[in-house]
Amino acid sequence: MFNPYTGKPDSDAIPKAAELGLEPPRYCTECGRRMVVQVNPDGWWAKCSRHGVTDSHDLERR
Ligand SMILES: [Zn+2]
Repeated sequence: MFNPYTGKPDSDAIPKAAELGLEPPRYCTECGRRMVVQVNPDGWWAKCSRHGVTDSHDLERR
């Protein structure tokens, strides 16, 4: 696992804004690649070229 906000392996430090759901992840948790991030008025999505799209609405449903 990679930290989605720093891209570092085995780090669970999460920025405060991210905890509140305001900050989209920047790195893929599977491979640590930098993702393409798109912020919308109602949320965000982040796309890894290998692992596909993570959507803020998917996270809210968990
Ligand atoms: Zn990935």
